[in-house]
Amino acid sequence: MTINPASEWKAGVAKAVARSLLSWFGQNARDLPWRHSRDPYGIWVSEVMLQQTQVQTVIPYWNLWMQELPTLHDLAGVAEDRLLKLWEGLGYYSRVRNLQRAARAVELQHHGRIPSQRAELLELPGVGPYTAGAIASLAFNQSEPLVDGNVARVLSRLNRVEGDPRDSGPRDQLWQLAQGLVTATGELKSVPSTPFAAGRYSALNQGLMELGATVCLPRNPTCLLCPVSTECQAYQAGEVDRFPMVRPRVKATRLCYLVAVITHSGRWLMRRRIDGEVNQGLWEFPQLEVTDDRRDAVDSAREWLGVPESQLIPLPRVRHAITRYQITLDVFMVALKRIPDAIQDGQWVTPEEAGELAVTAAHRKIAKRLIAQEN
Ligand code: SF4
Repeated sequence: MTINPASEWKAGVAKAVARSLLSWFGQNARDLPWRHSRDPYGIWVSEVMLQQTQVQTVIPYWNLWMQELPTLHDLAGVAEDRLLKLWEGLGYYSRVRNLQRAARAVELQHHGRIPSQRAELLELPGVGPYTAGAIASLAFNQSEPLVDGNVARVLSRLNRVEGDPRDSGPRDQLWQLAQGLVTATGELKSVPSTPFAAGRYSALNQGLMELGATVCLPRNPTCLLCPVSTECQAYQAGEVDRFPMVRPRVKATRLCYLVAVITHSGRWLMRRRIDGEVNQGLWEFPQLEVTDDRRDAVDSAREWLGVPESQLIPLPRVRHAITRYQITLDVFMVALKRIPDAIQDGQWVTPEEAGELAVTAAHRKIAKRLIAQEN
């Protein structure tokens, strides 16, 4: 995407916002583990984990990741199973696959050194405008803008940007505004010292994201505590609730599956999702899509597994939500000596071995319940 350097800010406002944000961030930055590092690799990993995921959830994942894969070289060489296990529970597994592909590209094309320039970063697999801006500015203090969901909300309100930020027109305008703030930051004669930042551009972008994450919240923003409320057009007009103009979500699609926990000699039958499937490479119990009806589920299980109903032990339903899907899993346990004909593949694993595998989130819930039942 081409970023138009022209700014839509009114004269002097971008500088005032930049100055206030830098000062506020200097005093209010949260102490997050990746902020103690200037290592672009650790910052990159944190940024990818934070996409679609809350900070508090990410912290233990990031800490473990950096223990196990402390360098880009380690990431490039790690086996897929281990990679997926480190990501288990964060979801959106294409993120971590792309991260490894990008690490390998950096090894091959940049001698293992993560590039600092936006254009080079954008050529890496899975690196879009946001991630490129984040690595360039946060790790290398380059004068690059970034716009994520939090930033889009803040900028939409500050400037009363009309339209859904996911649409190209408003999105371009938000990037221009972000660029305007970066430019204004470069023009400041002096900036307050800021912990956790490689320089003024790093602090500006982190401050913008921090404001969106802690003050300019989607609902009930704490405008009275906001350092830029004087410049905020939405606040001044009493229209904070109108921005950002995000269209209502489409109604969730319901999906129902039958899940078979097939046991034999203290082991469970599990299968690895094959290439081309959603969540490829992750493990799960055998499952079958069914209609949304418990009776159908029992009948389907009987037919699918080739056993009488009396052999099926129903377990509590599992509900799971991901993106626009509401997923219901009807779970049945059944003891069998051999793999049913209808199930093409699978391996017998002990519960301990299953704990070492990367398992889909919904099926991890089932496994945890089974282990809790036994203890
Ligand atoms: Fe957000 Fe309120 Fe601050 Fe405006 S004044 S940027 S709406 S928190």
